[in-house]
Amino acid sequence: MRKKVIIVYHGIGTEDPFMQVDVQEFQKQVSYLQSVFRIVHVRELLTVESQEPMATIMFDDAFLSAFGAMQFLDGLQIAYDVALIEEYIGMKEYCSLEQLKQLKKACFVFHTKSHQVLAGLQEKELEMQISSEYIDQLLPCEKGILVYPRGIYDEHTKRLLYQKNYIAGLTALPFHVSKRSNLYEIPRICINGYLSLQKFRFLLSIWGNLYLHLAFVKRRLLGQDYLGK
Ligand SMILES: [Zn+2]
Repeated sequence: MRKKVIIVYHGIGTEDPFMQVDVQEFQKQVSYLQSVFRIVHVRELLTVESQEPMATIMFDDAFLSAFGAMQFLDGLQIAYDVALIEEYIGMKEYCSLEQLKQLKKACFVFHTKSHQVLAGLQEKELEMQISSEYIDQLLPCEKGILVYPRGIYDEHTKRLLYQKNYIAGLTALPFHVSKRSNLYEIPRICINGYLSLQKFRFLLSIWGNLYLHLAFVKRRLLGQDYLGK
């Protein structure tokens, strides 16, 4: 299988480098991605085998600060996905419904009703969180793909996703997508404002993926948190 990666952004800007990437760095990263990968929507990345390496660009939470970056990708005719939290649409610091409707190259995936951590929820509450019926009337989401809030899930979450005909659950496990990836534990690499272009390029290489796996094991052994927002 050819290389597949899912790249995740939250905000765009310089106020909070943990959650935001500077706009110029973002543009450099996009042009690097274009030079190496075919950039596709996440559904295609997850369901199609290709001879070319594939990358998906995702924006989690639909932050208002990322709206310009989404329009930038529209201008270049580059596909991307936006993970929507139903109750956050139109709230302060988040894109409005009107803005989201203007986007041309976006596919929308569901990121739950209110961004509650799904692990440990009661069945009813969990079902409510992952039910996309209402948002589908506002902005149709890609069917069957859920982004776990804060990347957190448990066995119960995965089981219910399967029962509700979801084909994939997207995590914040920072690796490339491989043939061995469990469909309900799809890894994604979250980018923050501290990452240099050189390291960004490295992480998307085969050696970079090995490095990510080793760094993950090390953090787990040391009991450090690896989860992004
Ligand atoms: Zn989120």
